[in-house]
Amino acid sequence: MAKKPRQPLFSVDDALNLSRREIIELHQSYLNTTLVSMFKLLDFDKKFVKAEGVFLWDEDGKRYIDFLAGYGSLNVGHNNPEILAAVDKVNSRPNILQASLGAMPAALAHNLAVISPAGLKHSFFCNSGTEAVEGGLKLARLVTGRHKVVSAVGAFHGKTLGSLSVSGREKYKKLFRPLLEGCYVVKFGDEAALDRALDNRDVAAFIVEPIQGEAGVIPPPPGYLKKAAEICKKYGTLFIVDEIQTGLGRTGDMFACDHEHVKPDIMLLSKSLGGGVVPIGAILTTAAHWKAAYGTFDKALLHTSTFGGNARACAAGIAAVNYIIDNGLTEQAKQKGAYLLKKLQALQADHPMIKEVRGRGLLIGLEFKEPFKGYVDKFTGGALNKLYHEYFASLVASQLVQKYGIVTAFTLNNPNVLRFEPPLTIEYEQLDILVTALDDICGRNKTPGRMLVRAGQTYARRAASRPKKTIKSAK
Ligand code: PLP
Repeated sequence: MAKKPRQPLFSVDDALNLSRREIIELHQSYLNTTLVSMFKLLDFDKKFVKAEGVFLWDEDGKRYIDFLAGYGSLNVGHNNPEILAAVDKVNSRPNILQASLGAMPAALAHNLAVISPAGLKHSFFCNSGTEAVEGGLKLARLVTGRHKVVSAVGAFHGKTLGSLSVSGREKYKKLFRPLLEGCYVVKFGDEAALDRALDNRDVAAFIVEPIQGEAGVIPPPPGYLKKAAEICKKYGTLFIVDEIQTGLGRTGDMFACDHEHVKPDIMLLSKSLGGGVVPIGAILTTAAHWKAAYGTFDKALLHTSTFGGNARACAAGIAAVNYIIDNGLTEQAKQKGAYLLKKLQALQADHPMIKEVRGRGLLIGLEFKEPFKGYVDKFTGGALNKLYHEYFASLVASQLVQKYGIVTAFTLNNPNVLRFEPPLTIEYEQLDILVTALDDICGRNKTPGRMLVRAGQTYARRAASRPKKTIKSAK
């Protein structure tokens, strides 16, 4: 008989009934302690108890609109009943059984081949975005027999070692060196720089987000992706599009690279492919590349994943793709995104602290200007100086959540940018609520709103305080 643990263990029911304070303490004891302090500092520590569509509810019954939507994982909304029902349908089938060819991955791979840019046919299923990137890089190495990879300045492709090697922000990389050898960056949108980086004909892949997400939501100059694909072809380099955040209707096209009718060699998916219910990632490539990489008995198992292609994840994927198509969510993203972009750009004209609003479809970033820093420092006695670069847009985000019930966040590689990427099912009325809230927060008379200044002061005060602990740690 197994030895009884020293302390009683929580059941799922116990977990459901934990108070907000207990949750915070458990996070402090057993998860990322500093994240608890950050959430406290930014006043983000709500206990959300329900989620449906574009909405979240806290324990007091207050409703919030989710403009963050799992960093783009919730194109079909929270707990979409059609996705949940699809996952339910397979709950008596084997979920994980590598010794058999599953029906669900077969059907999902078929569907993805049908909706993807011409030429993409084979899928490999994994479990997250960064894992898809790793698989894409390995595939490119096998196909080309080369090892170098070029990516774009500011790019975000994930945080495992291979993905980090091709990502753009030094902060996330420097403590983990040495990373992969032979990784170089070129300016996003610069065709000539890409041409120069590839002209030795020794680069396996150019990996790029068709709209950079975490860099601060940056669409490329028109024609860039098409040209980049041509340059890659000229030098025998594979063109990898990372559609992990932009894919599945988000930007007003099924895939953001469809905007320029680009045919990538490899396309990477994750996030919304799981319908917001089950994690999944996918690496798509052409029949020829698949054959070259894994098309012999001794190569067929060079890349595998224990959970990749599990029935529940693939059922969620099948339902998510069908839901997006059946409900015209791609077109909705286009229309609603154009509406929101226009309104936010009009707001920019009224508020000098807004530097730029940009994006496509329902992937929109709002960048604040540097001079705003001066105002906040003045009102907080310089207490924000140190934290400013990392958490500035979070000050606005914390006001949005506290005062207006709107959830959003900054972009990882540019903390000065607030991102708006709600479920594609969002209503116009909810887009208006965001615009009014931002108008209010930014204030009038070319200075930040009093509300924002007060938030800065609170933020500065909290920087020193730490929550008290009442739950006893097991270890
Ligand atoms: N690629 C892009 C474009 C992303 O936006 C992200 C995550 O935000 C990733 C890759 C990494 O995905 P994951 O966090 O699932 O590893």
